[in-house]
Amino acid sequence: MIAPWLQQQWDGIDLSACPNALLLHGQAGIGKADFAITLAKALLCEAPFGSKKPCNGCEACRWFDTGNHPDFIALVPETHRRFMPNEALEGIDGDLSPSKKAKALRDEEGDSPEKKEKKYIAIDEARSAIDGLAIGTHRGGNRIVLVYPLEALRVDAANTLLKSLEEPPSSTIFILVTSHLDRVLPTIRSRCRLVALPPPDRASGLAWLRHEIASRPELKVSNDELETIFYEQGGAPYATLDFLSSKQGQNDKDELFVSIQASRYLLQGLAQGVRIDWLDVAEKTHKASFAVLLASMQRWLADLQGSAQADAVRFYPKHAGSITTLSKQARLEKLLRLWKLVTQARRHENHPLATRIQLESLLMQYQQIFAD
Ligand SMILES: [Zn+2]
Repeated sequence: MIAPWLQQQWDGIDLSACPNALLLHGQAGIGKADFAITLAKALLCEAPFGSKKPCNGCEACRWFDTGNHPDFIALVPETHRRFMPNEALEGIDGDLSPSKKAKALRDEEGDSPEKKEKKYIAIDEARSAIDGLAIGTHRGGNRIVLVYPLEALRVDAANTLLKSLEEPPSSTIFILVTSHLDRVLPTIRSRCRLVALPPPDRASGLAWLRHEIASRPELKVSNDELETIFYEQGGAPYATLDFLSSKQGQNDKDELFVSIQASRYLLQGLAQGVRIDWLDVAEKTHKASFAVLLASMQRWLADLQGSAQADAVRFYPKHAGSITTLSKQARLEKLLRLWKLVTQARRHENHPLATRIQLESLLMQYQQIFAD
């Protein structure tokens, strides 16, 4: 499925004259994976020239949907396999049950060595896939190599990929997907047609989410909560949906509720500027996920910085009034320093030594941004 806000980019791709390598890039959680998978399917679809593709009815489309198309090679790490056509999982990793999927999601939040390993595409898998490109395609049409996300490819595998981009095997189209264009090797980047995929505007993102949620009764969430989570997820609808699905269990739901409440309380506190009662805010919020709190704070600071430079308030339009006023009172060098601290803290957010103390310290420094 192509998200409505990506329709224009979809229409811009000529399936009959597709370049050998496409690099789809854009913010995380906006539908890049779905776009890439639909594109792969359309490029493999065997419906007659001029028909709407993917047709979802031809043999190739059916093979694709069952995860058995022999010319579709997906290089995807364990942490991201839940985004692939369901049955495609069988070939790689056995069936992923819903509970396993939820676990895979949670695993992504930690970062023990084994968990870290799962974030990478296995080197052997990458090598043997790329080596296999020397032989002809199975069905005589296109062959698609999807690498998602591109940063999950380790350096040596990336070099192997680069070699095949330099001398593209016939009928092979590489679809590379990344949320971090800045981390892509320039040598890879320069061999691809770049396709920028934009996030939706706020209204259409929320409208799409409401529609999706209406068809999934297990995801019970109020409009207000939905909006809050949507902002917390940086205005990325797919990330929002993913977050909601990962928090389906009862305990998780309580945790979610605590996080939403805490995040609201934090934002109300931040909106007070120099008058923030940071001890009270830390007291009322420290039991929530530190990761969520840090993310909210980082976005708030980003909005303050943006607003100081006369940009539109991106993450918290509901608080646009306070943000604009505060941005005029803020001392920018202090704001920048705190931004760096919060960014650093986010890197270690999975091992909060003492959430409350860290939170108090950050909030106190926030107050100082507005003090003389
Ligand atoms: Zn088809």
